[in-house]
Amino acid sequence: MRTIDKIYIDGEFVTPKGAETADLYNPSTEEKIGRVRLGNREDAHDAIAAAKRAFPAFSTTTKAERIVMLKRLYSAVSARLSDLTEAMALEYGAPQAFTRFAIPNAASSFLSMAKVLEEYDFERFLGRARVVMQPVGVAAAITPWNSNIGFITSKLSTAIAAGSTIVIKPSEMSAIQTQVLAECLHEADLPKGVFNIVNGLGQVVGAELTQHPDIAKITFTGSTSVGREILRNAADSFKRVTLELGGKGPNIILNDADLDKTIPAVLRMGLINSGQACIAGTRILVPNHWHDEVLARLKQEIETFKVGAPGDPDVVIGPMVSRKQYERVQSYIQLGLQEGAALAAGGPGRPDGLGRGWFAKPTIFTNVGNQMRIAREEIFGPVLSVIGYHDDEEAISIANDTLYGLQAYLHGTDTARMQALADRLDSGRVVINGAPHEPLAPFGGFKQSGIGREYGAFGLEAFLEAKAIIS
Ligand code: NAD
Repeated sequence: MRTIDKIYIDGEFVTPKGAETADLYNPSTEEKIGRVRLGNREDAHDAIAAAKRAFPAFSTTTKAERIVMLKRLYSAVSARLSDLTEAMALEYGAPQAFTRFAIPNAASSFLSMAKVLEEYDFERFLGRARVVMQPVGVAAAITPWNSNIGFITSKLSTAIAAGSTIVIKPSEMSAIQTQVLAECLHEADLPKGVFNIVNGLGQVVGAELTQHPDIAKITFTGSTSVGREILRNAADSFKRVTLELGGKGPNIILNDADLDKTIPAVLRMGLINSGQACIAGTRILVPNHWHDEVLARLKQEIETFKVGAPGDPDVVIGPMVSRKQYERVQSYIQLGLQEGAALAAGGPGRPDGLGRGWFAKPTIFTNVGNQMRIAREEIFGPVLSVIGYHDDEEAISIANDTLYGLQAYLHGTDTARMQALADRLDSGRVVINGAPHEPLAPFGGFKQSGIGREYGAFGLEAFLEAKAIIS
């Protein structure tokens, strides 16, 4: 049993003033593995006050000084990749197929931002004006459970690069991962108060951060419904707000696709992070004339996606994070059946041989209309919908007929055609033929997938205010 009873304020691990606790579980076994003591509003105030005190000195550090800090953070996090991986496997159930990429990628956020900073000009001349990019002030980061370590490092690295201090409220379900990460970050020996981490409930610590007048900016990753509430709360004091929210990504197979390469890539993109991913390509769009062949190959391929606990290196799909999330996924599978979709793979219940743990079956629905709720709502589990289309026009129209617009996927062989189609997709990112993540490119959503962009120079500018000095 792990007891997490400290939060991180003003460069020290301190006991929260809040006395409420929450239980922590291993989703692969359903066993209780620990308890976290949660911060309260007073703890949030203390963290904000520490970040506010640190801001005047930190905001005037030089680029070179901040690059050194980012590199120290990188080294400190890189030194404990295996501990971070272990924590993410234990508390979240992340399979090695995910952590092999996600954990080193989380550490490399600091190096990516150091690179951005090296090339970024905080001063430019436009006509008669000298334009200065100034740190926005004290920021608050609020993060979800599905890639806790990576969201914290990417938001923290950007705040540091900008010269902003920050208070971070991670998901209350990720306390073990947060503790290991906080120990790493502490080792980097940054000035006191530059970053502060407060475990706590969204309605308590999260709400306080979004309303407090000393917070100038919120960077939030999480659900669209909470994003909406944060936007409302932030309005009173006109906070700058970056929201990274849900998705229902189209995963488009074009009629010239090489199916040998495409079928595994389509499923990898659809089931990434056990389907608990905002960027998952959960709507698989297939040319009508190819429907039966593609479906047969998807069915065959999905059988090779092993489900289980993260200790097994061959596992590709881990458990759902909690009983609540497992039940949510089950309810969507039932809903798909009620809506008249047909099961091509998977279905209700746990996979054979897995009696315990919040494991869902990798599921493919066919006979899906894009108006069905399973095609419109984010399920956040390994549940995919196959939707037929007649021609490229119809594929684009179905792809864009959604409230979301975070990440879309195109699979084909004609590069010029895919580039032209990508231009027409209402999506913050379009990934062609399973291309790898690009940390320097902007990331964020159209429509209800969010507001603003993270990563690279776009992400940095979201932590800066432009000031024009005209003479
Ligand atoms: P969530 O929205 O329930 O919670 C996210 C965070 O917000 C948690 O730390 C929570 O405590 C906090 N929170 C809850 N209520 C709050 C309030 N009223 N005020 C302030 N903070 C509050 O999301 P989740 O269940 O943790 O994560 C899953 C969701 O996150 C999915 O919808 C997924 O699409 C989204 N997500 C988006 C991205 C992206 O980059 N676009 C990435 C990952 C996850």
